[in-house]
Amino acid sequence: MANDSELIPLSKPDLTDRERAAVMAVLQTDRLTIGPQLEAFEQAVAQRTRRRFAVGVNSGTSGLHLCVRGLDLQSGDEVITTPFSFIATTGCLLYEGVRPVFVDIDPESYNLDPDRIAAAITPRTRAILPVEVFGNPVHFDRYEAIARRHGLHLIEDCCEALGASLHGRPAGSFGDCGVFAFYPNKQITTGEGGMVVTDDAELAGRLRSMRNQGRDTLGWLSHERLGYNYRLSELSAAMGVVQMERLDEILARRRQVARWYAEALADVEEIHLPPCHDPASASWFVYVVRLADALTATDRDAVAAQLQAAGIGCERYFAPIHHQPFIRRQFGFGPGDFPITERIAERTLALPFFSTMTLQQVQRVARQVRAALARPARRQPMGR
Ligand SMILES: *Cc1c(COP(=O)(O)O)cnc(C)c1O
Repeated sequence: MANDSELIPLSKPDLTDRERAAVMAVLQTDRLTIGPQLEAFEQAVAQRTRRRFAVGVNSGTSGLHLCVRGLDLQSGDEVITTPFSFIATTGCLLYEGVRPVFVDIDPESYNLDPDRIAAAITPRTRAILPVEVFGNPVHFDRYEAIARRHGLHLIEDCCEALGASLHGRPAGSFGDCGVFAFYPNKQITTGEGGMVVTDDAELAGRLRSMRNQGRDTLGWLSHERLGYNYRLSELSAAMGVVQMERLDEILARRRQVARWYAEALADVEEIHLPPCHDPASASWFVYVVRLADALTATDRDAVAAQLQAAGIGCERYFAPIHHQPFIRRQFGFGPGDFPITERIAERTLALPFFSTMTLQQVQRVARQVRAALARPARRQPMGR
């Protein structure tokens, strides 16, 4: 079939002539940064997350870093976080010499296990930094209650969860502040970009100042505090404004693709479908299946290799943070330190997933997954 030679990427941004026109319109002006597009984009995200303030920045990682600085977390402080995430969740702490204290995950949702948090709290603990893994906002009300009870800050890494909600509350609305990201594989993109949301006026003011070289109100060459150039350009913000207007349409398409996958893979016994607490309101970031416990990392890698050979993008999401070479060197972690994270991370595989994906593409991926599972690594003859 001619169709079967087409490459299916792991992810793909959903851009239309509207985004292209919005960027072109900015190019007709002289205002390329800190202008009306940024304000409009910030307003749209604040409104959607029911927060008083939103501060646009040039990446999710910069946003996380600003939250760490903005909440005055310092060297010697400890922050409880998850080893099953993208590296930035921990990186933002290490920038400031803050110690990440990893707590294992809940195997159902893949999110930080709320029942394990209390045991990890010490007199040095200042904050909890959980992640809505793959867009699933489960347990955030519980993290909030724990943080309140112990007098800790809560930073929500909601980079994967724009538009999701838990009991009617939007991702981004929990705790002191939440951080979104707009890299091209996220639900919406600005090329590069991020956004911090909060209800705290003083925190928002510090974040605005720090993203812009520590400037306050005194003038362009007056710096109130140590800051960074974490500004988001008007070109990016203009894309963001249109993408926010299209968010519901994009999320609905992604839910449709997830439903197609669930149907196409329903009878494949060797895999678990991705966790999703509420299919009707879900905001899907990636589509990550997990091989049954009876299969191994070697089987998973063999499936990945066969998909790639068939022109189908896939990725091992996530390699645990505590296994990353520089983290291992700094903290001395080894195999078995966070067994649930490891058991899951060895068996997960992200399949192609984007809002413009067609039913035919989903069915082709499902066919290849079945074919790959029919001849996993351990059953292949030796010496070939
Ligand atoms: C995407 C992402 C980030 C931030 O990514 P940037 O590339 O810096 O925008 C942070 N945390 C998680 C969990 C993410 O998925």
